[in-house]
Amino acid sequence: MKYFLSKSKYIRGLQCSRALWLDVYHPELAQYSRETMRKFDRGREFERLFKDQFPDAVDVSAALRNRFNDYPAFTEEVLQRDGEVDLFEAGFLFDNVLVLADVVHKNADGRLDIYEVKSGSTLSETYKNDAAVQHYVISHCHNINSFSIVYNGNSDHPDQSDRSDQSDQSPNFKIVNLTEELALQHALISNNISCMKEVLKGGEPDITPGDRCTTPYECPYKKYCDKGLRHLSLF
Ligand code: SF4
Repeated sequence: MKYFLSKSKYIRGLQCSRALWLDVYHPELAQYSRETMRKFDRGREFERLFKDQFPDAVDVSAALRNRFNDYPAFTEEVLQRDGEVDLFEAGFLFDNVLVLADVVHKNADGRLDIYEVKSGSTLSETYKNDAAVQHYVISHCHNINSFSIVYNGNSDHPDQSDRSDQSDQSPNFKIVNLTEELALQHALISNNISCMKEVLKGGEPDITPGDRCTTPYECPYKKYCDKGLRHLSLF
């Protein structure tokens, strides 16, 4: 294995070190609610609609499926092509963290425009944390021209974002360029990654369930932790 953390594990680790540890060593314990699964579905659909604007893109995930260790080399191969090129799920590896970028546009001068697509209706701190770790990794691999978050401008009312009948609405993509803001967070990201690597060297962290279990996301290990169970594995 060439990497220790992914973007989603990094976000999990920000919420709770025990959740990060379980995600790596016992992902079979995760249980997602129906509502969470519906949110995942809405997110995938919103992302698909945005990607429709890049009809000639190279879809790295379609080419490699779950061969994640191969993503960075394949991505690099495509980025070496002359002229402009678009990629979906381009993979980048730095500091043992693998990130897959939703949409990457390589300009003719080689600099990258990156779009992280989120179906929510507000630009949350969690979205920014997600973008920040990607910016940290990708900027150590390539020259970034811009890094933007795309979110859902149709969901101005919170309830509307939960509707299942949004297919009749035209998507309203709000694009916010966060390049400068994300570049200022590299030292923090590097420190967080070091802490998470230390967590993964040890046994299951002794964290008592509390507010963190539902913020910013409902933790999929809640049932396991609420029962007071612990794995006694030694790493
Ligand atoms: S349920 Fe709470 S304590 Fe348990 S792993 Fe999740 S966030 Fe951590």
